[in-house]
Amino acid sequence: MYGYKCEYCNGTVRPRLVEREVFKHKKGFVILENVVIGVCDGCGDRYYSAEILHTVHEIATGRRQPERTEAVPVAYAGQAGVAVPA
Ligand SMILES: [Zn+2]
Repeated sequence: MYGYKCEYCNGTVRPRLVEREVFKHKKGFVILENVVIGVCDGCGDRYYSAEILHTVHEIATGRRQPERTEAVPVAYAGQAGVAVPA
């Protein structure tokens, strides 16, 4: 499912097992652990399979129960500083 050309450079998207990956959904953030994502070996851009995005959507919309829920601290970062958690 990975191994294709990157959209942004000439690199190749390779599968990589990551301990945790944060996904931004319109309903909030979802963290998946021990998930295989695609990472470009050129620019490092991350790619997600349709299956991963489907799982994120199901958890974010409450159709699927997460293993646990973590609290995420939220703060206003001033006018100019819009901080997006990586
Ligand atoms: Zn790339």
